[in-house]
Amino acid sequence: MHDTTRVLIIEDEPSLVETLQYNLVREGYEVAAATDGYGGVATATNWQPDLVLLDVMLPGIDGLEVCRRIRRVSNVPILMLTARAEEIDKVVGLELGADDYLAKPFGMRELLARIRALLRRTRPSEEVSPGAPTVEPAAVGRHVSGNLIIDTVRHEALLDGVPLELKPREYDLLLYLVEHRGMVVSRESILEQVWGWSYGGGSRTVDVHVRWLREKIEADPSTPERIQTVRGVGYRFEG
Ligand code: CA
Repeated sequence: MHDTTRVLIIEDEPSLVETLQYNLVREGYEVAAATDGYGGVATATNWQPDLVLLDVMLPGIDGLEVCRRIRRVSNVPILMLTARAEEIDKVVGLELGADDYLAKPFGMRELLARIRALLRRTRPSEEVSPGAPTVEPAAVGRHVSGNLIIDTVRHEALLDGVPLELKPREYDLLLYLVEHRGMVVSRESILEQVWGWSYGGGSRTVDVHVRWLREKIEADPSTPERIQTVRGVGYRFEG
């Protein structure tokens, strides 16, 4: 178990992530960031943070759904960051299990005070009983498939130990496929989960991104072994 206090930031605005990271590290927290809903859920599950800062508007799956999914597997305190007053109503009304919420723009002092209050409140129940199951270090924030490693904490994929140059969407697509390895995923579900409900483009986009991804992760992109095409349906990640 970790002896530092871990804060996971799930936020897609790079400048805000940077500011949050800077201030939280200065306060002595160990910080990880995910810039989309999918990465957020995966990191919350694998990295086991002590607190989650969760933005509502996110690409992929939104913060409300991320909150629900984290709640299924963890009691970690969640502080929602909302951009508009209506969003607060929604967060409260849906009873998602968020512990607190803060409207943007917020001051850093206010945020740090809320974080400390939440941690104080949740500490007693957080004490680890001896013999509690621990996560295998190798499994933390990582998906391994042969010479391909996806590090969800660093938000990068490595082939033979070398970081791949993936566009954000390619990374999201790869992560989604790997998280569903062995399962057939339809183009529609990929579009919905990786591109998000607001995306108006067609499923051809998925095919194009799969082709780009194959060029980066397959030994021979013309006869792919990792990302299999399932005719008329979609794709399946093998390995
Ligand atoms: Ca956002």
